[in-house]
Amino acid sequence: MSINAKGIPTAECVNCGERWFLVPVVFDPDTYMPAMWGTNARCYSCKSPVTAPTPLDHPDYEPTIFD
Ligand SMILES: [Zn+2]
Repeated sequence: MSINAKGIPTAECVNCGERWFLVPVVFDPDTYMPAMWGTNARCYSCKSPVTAPTPLDHPDYEPTIFD
């Protein structure tokens, strides 16, 4: 069973606790590492719609001089 859990950024599915998400991603062509990602995501396990987090959503986030 899936639920619509969109709206609150989270690193774990609020429905089943899964940490694998399906997210749109852009890879850096030089490093092949993820360079950016979308927040419109789905849980890999239960397929619930979720909002993928960004560093700004972390509770301990503090702005730096680069922000
Ligand atoms: Zn889930």
